[in-house]
Amino acid sequence: MERQQHRADVVIVGSGYGGSIAALGLAEAGIDAVVLERGRRWPVTDAGDTFATQTAPDGRAAWLSETSPLTDAKLDVYTGVLEFVEGSGMNVLAGTGVGGASLASNGTMCEPSAALFRRTLGDVLDHREMSGRWYPEARELIGCSPIPDDVYESGFYRSARSFADQLDKAGIPWEKVDLAVDWDVVREEMAGTRVRSQIDGLNVFGVNSGAQRSLDRTLLARAEASGHITVRPLSVVTAVRPAGGDGDGFHVDYESIDERGTVRSLHRITTTRLVLAAGTLGTNRLLLRARESGALPALHHALGTRVGNSEVITARTGMAENNPRQGGPAAIFARDWEDNPLGPVSLLNFPWPDAPAEEGWITTIGAVPAPALGTFRYDQEKDDVVLHWPAGDPALARAQSAITHTLDRLNEANPGSRTAFSRIGTTGGNVVGGVPLGTVTDDAGRVGGHPGLYVVDGSLLPGTGVPPALTVAAVAARLTSLLVRELVGTR
Ligand SMILES: Cc1cc2nc3c(=O)[nH]c(=O)nc-3n(C[C@H](O)[C@H](O)[C@H](O)COP(=O)(O)OP(=O)(O)OC[C@H]3O[C@@H](n4cnc5c(N)ncnc54)[C@H](O)[C@@H]3O)c2cc1C
Repeated sequence: MERQQHRADVVIVGSGYGGSIAALGLAEAGIDAVVLERGRRWPVTDAGDTFATQTAPDGRAAWLSETSPLTDAKLDVYTGVLEFVEGSGMNVLAGTGVGGASLASNGTMCEPSAALFRRTLGDVLDHREMSGRWYPEARELIGCSPIPDDVYESGFYRSARSFADQLDKAGIPWEKVDLAVDWDVVREEMAGTRVRSQIDGLNVFGVNSGAQRSLDRTLLARAEASGHITVRPLSVVTAVRPAGGDGDGFHVDYESIDERGTVRSLHRITTTRLVLAAGTLGTNRLLLRARESGALPALHHALGTRVGNSEVITARTGMAENNPRQGGPAAIFARDWEDNPLGPVSLLNFPWPDAPAEEGWITTIGAVPAPALGTFRYDQEKDDVVLHWPAGDPALARAQSAITHTLDRLNEANPGSRTAFSRIGTTGGNVVGGVPLGTVTDDAGRVGGHPGLYVVDGSLLPGTGVPPALTVAAVAARLTSLLVRELVGTR
């Protein structure tokens, strides 16, 4: 198959938080860019059946795979919304599609405390600058807000209220977390005028009602509307390399695929500026492959290191009041940051549509500032990266005990409740890192040794001790403003 040749001033790989924010920043500065995204578009329609659901999963649930760890069903092979990759000690779940993981996430937007931020990112970024400027900007861009009272007080959020009540009894502070959710659409779900999605906890493969403020429908849509940004879905980038010669930029090879994954055409786009935003898994893949093949020889030896996953999944039983389906996205953000002698712990209730109601189950997704001990390594046989995670490391056991401490206090203060399950991440949607900001890149996301190459996504962060999306977005907003300044300066 002959490779078709193209040119672009700027190419962005990936359209999650990093890629979409970069696209919008460039668009607003009047700079043209092409966004290459391996996944398809997922337009939400009145039919309310865009995405697979946990109750009736099909190929739309998984990226080119017959299986998904989130369902027992055998799936038809399709370019679905979540890729699962088995690692050594830790597996990765990565979003795919125009909008990246924003399509199928819980949409919780959590800002770490100053102490948590300094502990994880303080060497490279100034917390005052981030909290004063970039976190607020990220919230504004995403358009997130906490659950309104009328929705919170409804029957659909009984488990959230019950969780908040338990936290009060245990003296653990909490707040209503900002969510990338359109609450008017949730109200329509409640009124029966839109397909029930969020209120039934059906969100892990995408939200059919349209209540999710996913990036393809918000800031990336704005970027495309400017006329400066062209998004090419179903475009899988396979290799990046310098174009050769001084100041010639990069060749980006990609395959144009159909929705079953069959390659339809091959392309090479040559660009002066290449912005990698393929997410933690995708960016590590592209850079480690390029280092292995000798295409990008100057990449720093720390590439692939400082991979973190602060995620903890817990389930407790014995909730006094519960709704059968535990509907609603996470609404309650417990911040056991000051009183836990073993370390700061965060917990968010999260929906579990088929929880056994009679035992009063509640699931939470937690976060602890676990050290970033993981490493992505290139595996020649697989021609892919493998995440190596030292699951037996004592530091992780310490982080797990901090979670246990929080759960024990909750159980003691709420007689009848007990912990059914609590495990520090072994499958992570929240895995970040591998391209440490300030080491493999400078503090502006410019990749050392390869001028014109930038990274703006979650791979830059070692984790922040809270779910990462808002921090990924805030860092991307900061790096985009520096990139725009650089590009405008050279025009
Ligand atoms: C199921 C799930 C739920 C989550 N829920 C939350 C939550 O509630 N709160 C929170 O804070 N965080 C959550 N996260 C984590 C959060 O979504 C991520 O940290 C965030 O999306 C990272 O943004 P990103 O831009 O780095 O990458 P992503 O959003 O993952 O985007 C990367 C994009 O690059 C594309 N791509 C990858 N490789 C290639 C390639 N070779 N060619 C072309 N395109 C490519 C991918 O298809 C994807 O669209 C969740 C993650 C998952 C998977």
